[in-house]
This record gives sequence, structure tokens and C-alpha cells, in this order.
Amino acid sequence: MEVEKMGGNNEVRGHVLMLVFPGYGHVAPMIQLARRLAFKGIKVTFASSLSVIQSFQPGSHLISLLPSYDDLTHGPIGGPRGIGVVAFLQKFQDFTTDFSLDFINKSLQDPDERRRVKCLIYDFDFHWALDVAKQAGVISAAFHTQVLGATAAYYMIYMKVRGEELKVPPLDIPDFSHNTGISEVVDGPGFHNISPVLKAALVKFRNLGKADFHFCLTFDKLEHEVLEWIKNICPTMATIGPMVASAYLDNRMEDNTDYGFIMNDPDTNMNTCLEWLNTKEPNSVVYIAFGSMADIESQQVKEIALALRSLRCNFLWVMKQTEMQKNLPSNFLEEMSEKGMFVKWCPQLQVLSHPAVGYIVTHCGANSVVEATVLGVPMLGLPRYTDQIPNAYYVEEVWKVGVNAKKNEEGVYGKEEIERCFKELMYGEKGKEIKKNLKQLRQHAIEAVSHGGSSDMHIEEFIARLVCGAKNK
Ligand code: UDP
Repeated sequence: MEVEKMGGNNEVRGHVLMLVFPGYGHVAPMIQLARRLAFKGIKVTFASSLSVIQSFQPGSHLISLLPSYDDLTHGPIGGPRGIGVVAFLQKFQDFTTDFSLDFINKSLQDPDERRRVKCLIYDFDFHWALDVAKQAGVISAAFHTQVLGATAAYYMIYMKVRGEELKVPPLDIPDFSHNTGISEVVDGPGFHNISPVLKAALVKFRNLGKADFHFCLTFDKLEHEVLEWIKNICPTMATIGPMVASAYLDNRMEDNTDYGFIMNDPDTNMNTCLEWLNTKEPNSVVYIAFGSMADIESQQVKEIALALRSLRCNFLWVMKQTEMQKNLPSNFLEEMSEKGMFVKWCPQLQVLSHPAVGYIVTHCGANSVVEATVLGVPMLGLPRYTDQIPNAYYVEEVWKVGVNAKKNEEGVYGKEEIERCFKELMYGEKGKEIKKNLKQLRQHAIEAVSHGGSSDMHIEEFIARLVCGAKNK
């Protein structure tokens, strides 16, 4: 097997600038792309907010980190107090545009041609970045931090909001506009008068298919049907994932074992929960995590806890705010002290691949559903909003790797419903089928990123274009 240190290839074959959205769910998959490119001899300048680049290890000497935006001075991406969202987003756009143009233009003075930036790889959420690439005269590559199914769902909603006909028959999936928070737009004031946050979620779709490359974080065999469909709109869409550290898949990149980045609590001893898992029987632990941002409502915390108590199962629960523990049923901590562990943050890849972990309760964020799928962990989906809703649909109905709970009249996933789903996963026929599907999908994922696999080839095709030096027209 070809095993190398990351960026072990000393010869630089080309240089790309990556413009990365400052949120864990965006940084994590893009750092994996950076590492795969560096592994193949491409120099990557990885630019994100100052706080992001100060808090992680790139993992290759071919990856350098640069702040594209000083959030410590000018405020976090959510917008500092006192500035409206619209004004803030404009400010953020201006900073990152100036940074990118300046960086690319300076690099173009480098006497060594291979060190000149040939491409801007940007988060698809940065809808302005396509124009930046064009203005700088470099190749444009949009990275989609969503699964393709969610991209397709949102694109159909975008067209509906604009009142435009699709060029192709619609994909046969539910209309998610009424539970992704977008019904307000579809039924309401139209595109020009919507809230800035909704607008930001939709406006980028005007650029679908316009970049020289579009990259998606999944793999061909997971999203084959959607990929075929979306290629009618976006012929350059290519799957390059899963964007999970190499050690869990192809194992070609010796040092690529994690995302190199810790959120929330730098004091957390990451090994404590792994040591605790070592004391548990295989497949006996339920892992509960709601991604990097979500704060779960107190009633929801209670319902999950009641279900765990009733099932008497082991659990490892990522809970961001310690005060949330106050929302647990009385005596829960004392009664379940042998069975459960709470952490503020954990190394999710290591946890999911630990033999003791049998199931995950997830909010269905894009990274979490892909990670659980390729690491073989059946999912109980409790989606909350945005792309989590279509993701959950794909998990249960299309990939068939999990089950989703249904909300009660109060809009909460109740104890009985959570228990019903657990029983289905643990003892039902569906659970057996899910485990079989997961095994097969893991195999497909490994093949995709291995030498000559579909994702590997798509990255090679991109590099071939970089190296031959053709610029954006
Ligand atoms: N994650 C982690 N440790 C935790 C919780 C989450 O490493 O304790 C990682 C997880 O592996 C995933 C990311 O955080 O890569 C969450 O991304 P996702 O798209 O699932 O959700 P988001 O944070 O964007 O809502």
C-alpha cells in the first residue's frame, strides 16, 4: 500500500487559495481536501477567520494558514452586537474579497510559476467568491459543505421562490420548503424582501453550475441518482469525499488521523471518553451529539434522557453547556452514573469507530451523517432545521442507514417515540437491514478515496487542470 507522510512529496506542483467559512462543519471537510491536495504535491493557502486558524494544526508543510478576516477585532461571523446582519455580511464580504484579490495578485509576482495561485477554492456559501476568482483570472472551484441531496432540495426551492421553471423534471423527493424555514419565502414576500439569513441560504444557488469545478463532500455510490440529476444543472459537479481523515478509510496518509481542530473546550481531555468507552461491551453505547453549534431545547434534553433511562443503555453525550445538565430529570445523574458520560466535546471520528459505540443520536448535520455512514454506525435522526431535514430524509429513505423520530404536537421528539426508534434499530428487521447497508457503503467509501477510486480520480482531474495552467475565461 502507498503510505506517505502528509505532504511528503517535496515538489510543489501548483498552488491554490482556499477561502473557508469559519464554522467547524465547514472547516473540517475543507481541511481534508487541503490535506488530500497537499498529499498530491499541491501547496494550499488555507484562509479563514483569525480564531479558526489560531486553533488548529494543518497537518502538512504544504498547507499554510492565513487569516482572511479578523473576527477577534471585527466580530464573529454571526455578526457583532450593534451591526445589523446585512451590514455585517457586506463587511465580511468586503474583507474577504480584498484579502483574496491582494493575496492572489501578490502570488502572481512570484518568479516560480508553480507558486502562483492558479485556483480559488471557496465555500459555496460565499456567493461573491466566484466573481473574485473571475476578477483575479484564476480557476474557480466551489466546495459544497452539504450532501448533494440537500443541494438538490435547496436548488428546487430556490427555483420555486424565483418562480422559474426547472430545466429538467424535478427530482422525486418531498418538497422541503415547509420545514427548512423557507416557507416564509415561498408563501410570503418573495425573494427581495426576505430575511438576510434566508437570503444567504438561497442566493448562492444562482451560481450553481457557474464555477469551473463544483466539489461535493460525499461519494458517487452514495448519491448516484442525485448526482446524475444535478449534472443537468451543474455539469462540473464532482464528488470528492467522504472528507473523513484518511486513517479511517484508505489509510494512505500516515499522519491524517483527525481534523486537527478542537472546538468549545480546549481543556477537555480527549482521551477520557475513549478510556471510558474501553470499559464498555461492543455495540453497547449510544453516542449522542448535535454538531458544533446546536443548543438543544430543555424539553428535548429531558425526553432523550427519559428514553435512555427507560432503556437502561450506556451513553456518551456531548452537551455543550454545563447548565443544560440542569434540564435532566431529577436523580438522572446519580441513577445513570455507571451507565453514562457527558463531555463538552469529543473526537467524534474516534468515538464513532470505537467498537463499544453501537448507535448515534444525531441532528443530521452533513458531516455527522456522512461520518456515521462510512464508519458504520446506525443513526437515530432528530433533525431540527435547514439541511438537517433533507439529510434525515436521505438517511432513512434513500441510503437506508438510520431511522428518524417524528415530533409530537409540541414540536418535540418525545420519550416514547425515541424508544420506539431505538427498539427498531436495536432489535427490528429494519435495524438488521441498516447494518447490512452500512457495511456495503463503508466499502464503497473506501474504494472511492483509494488510489484510482471515483473521488480520488476527481481530485486528480482537478490537479491536472491546475498543473496544465489553464485559466478561467
Ligand atoms: N464533532 C466533533 N466532536 C463533537 C461534536 C462534533 O468532532 O463532540 C464534529 C463532527 O465530527 C463533525 C462536526 O463536528 O465533523 C459537526 O458537523 P455537522 O455537519 O455534523 O454539524 P454542524 O456543526 O455543521 O451543525
